[in-house]
Amino acid sequence: MGVALGIDLGTTNSVAAVATPTGVEFILGSRNERVHPSVVAFPTAGGVVVGSDAKKYRLTEPQHVIHSAKRFIGQNIRAPLVQLALTGVRYKVEEGPNQQPIVTVRDRRLTMPEISSHVLLHLKRCAERQLGTTVSEAVITVPANFTDGQRQATKEAGRLAGLDVLRLINEPTAAALAYGFGHQRDQTIAVFDFGGGTFDISLLRIQGDVYEVLASDGDFFLGGDDLDRALTDLLASECNRILRVDPRQHLPLMMKLMMGAEAIKCHLSENDAAEGEIDGLDLPNAKAAQLPFQISRRQFDDMIAGYVLRTMDVTRQALAAAQLAPGDIDEVLCVGGSTRIPLVRRRIAELFGREPNIGINPDEVVAQGAAIQAGSLTGKLDAGTGMGASHAIATASHSPLAHDISSSVPGAPPRGRSPTQAPTPPPRPHRPTQPQLARPVARPILLDVNPATLAIQTAGGYTEKLLDKNAPIPIQQARVFTTARDNQTRVEIDCCRGEARRYTENEPLGTLVLDRLPARPRGELKIEVSFRVDADGILHVQATDVASGTRQEAYLNVLGAPAPGGGT
Ligand code: AMP
Repeated sequence: MGVALGIDLGTTNSVAAVATPTGVEFILGSRNERVHPSVVAFPTAGGVVVGSDAKKYRLTEPQHVIHSAKRFIGQNIRAPLVQLALTGVRYKVEEGPNQQPIVTVRDRRLTMPEISSHVLLHLKRCAERQLGTTVSEAVITVPANFTDGQRQATKEAGRLAGLDVLRLINEPTAAALAYGFGHQRDQTIAVFDFGGGTFDISLLRIQGDVYEVLASDGDFFLGGDDLDRALTDLLASECNRILRVDPRQHLPLMMKLMMGAEAIKCHLSENDAAEGEIDGLDLPNAKAAQLPFQISRRQFDDMIAGYVLRTMDVTRQALAAAQLAPGDIDEVLCVGGSTRIPLVRRRIAELFGREPNIGINPDEVVAQGAAIQAGSLTGKLDAGTGMGASHAIATASHSPLAHDISSSVPGAPPRGRSPTQAPTPPPRPHRPTQPQLARPVARPILLDVNPATLAIQTAGGYTEKLLDKNAPIPIQQARVFTTARDNQTRVEIDCCRGEARRYTENEPLGTLVLDRLPARPRGELKIEVSFRVDADGILHVQATDVASGTRQEAYLNVLGAPAPGGGT
């Protein structure tokens, strides 16, 4: 068996690592960098360039440089937030089959999983060069609130890169694992993950080797890129005022301002003010110019206050879902580059009444946790994996607990395409409050939750919950459906994700299609549909004709998901 990598596939940057007998080893790029920009360039000169080397093309040919693919992977291009995010990219994205976003660059058309697969392939090659061995397996991290479609698309990216994706794990869970592994902690922690493109908050209970997610929440479209954009807007206005040029009409100029904005933002994390000039601005009249700037941290704080407030609102929501008070949290881990911003740290300290833990590296901790999980799944972890020196690891004896609940519902009078009766809500399955083994648990046990309510459309445009947000996964739930018309051989069930009562206020997931049903008078047929969310957070659906016991794999036609085979 080759080596299994742990990969943090980020919106802005990616990090890969591998567990070794002496600790976790990070995978380096050609300049010995641990952090690899998630950037793929298709330069005019030909070829595909990935990582740090790809970034330099942002200035010369920005339309050929694909970044932030994670914002679009597994998404429906028509979703309003996706449309908004598209205004922040300079490359061309079009609607492809199944409403998935397709990148058109030079003479190529690529799906988002194909773009991400270039990043993964780059990491795999760097790892193979560094380790001198084949890398064929990986644990890849995803934001806790990634949808089924986004998870499937991420797995697809791994497959396209020649990696067997052993497991998708949630980024905050990975961070908690890196923090807790080998320390036999007994704590309730918050993982506050504010990166380049997304914000995630997870609350976890760590007891020895058991990592139980109590609640998680997040915002896909909230990250450092938004803060850069706020600052870029200010610089663009200054450019207009001082140089009498509207950079919004000139792509390379705008890119230069965006890069300047990010540098100013990072400078302000360490300093009270930023003052200087953005030089080398190529104006449309062929003159080179400089744009002076002077921005105080206070000004910047005002500019981003609304975004930071949104992270706090989501955090409060997660605390409420876990029925925890801020004071119940023993430690707040900061993950993601945007947690370096002083205003963010200040707001965290105010909310939790304690300073966040800044002792961990916010850029690397997620990949570190993924590497531990990869090592655990391939049996490569041993007592020496130096995350916590005193940690004694016994041989594997206990696999993660499953939480399969099957609540079958007897049929009731038919009502269109809707389910016929509400099921008993699933009880929260029992989870051990202590690792229930007489000897040390061999492997870390990760108990995660379903990131969002999955529901179906009922008559009148309302929804009915199928699987609850924050329900422990893996989880299974069964429902009985029936036909609304005589001799109906096909039933369609619209599925969505979200908490709203009205179907249209939620995020549509796709339509579940049950066909080849035997022709019967209406209401006579009883079809039990079982919805299962596996440990990767991916939804599987199966339908059974209750009378005959005949089973068929039902499929959820997920909007925005790659076309079968991954191509366009
Ligand atoms: P990540 O997605 O975790 O790699 O985070 C990347 C984001 O963190 C980008 O938006 C960066 O601009 C931002 N970032 C990195 N370092 C800093 C810093 N020192 N201050 C503010 N933001 C930072």
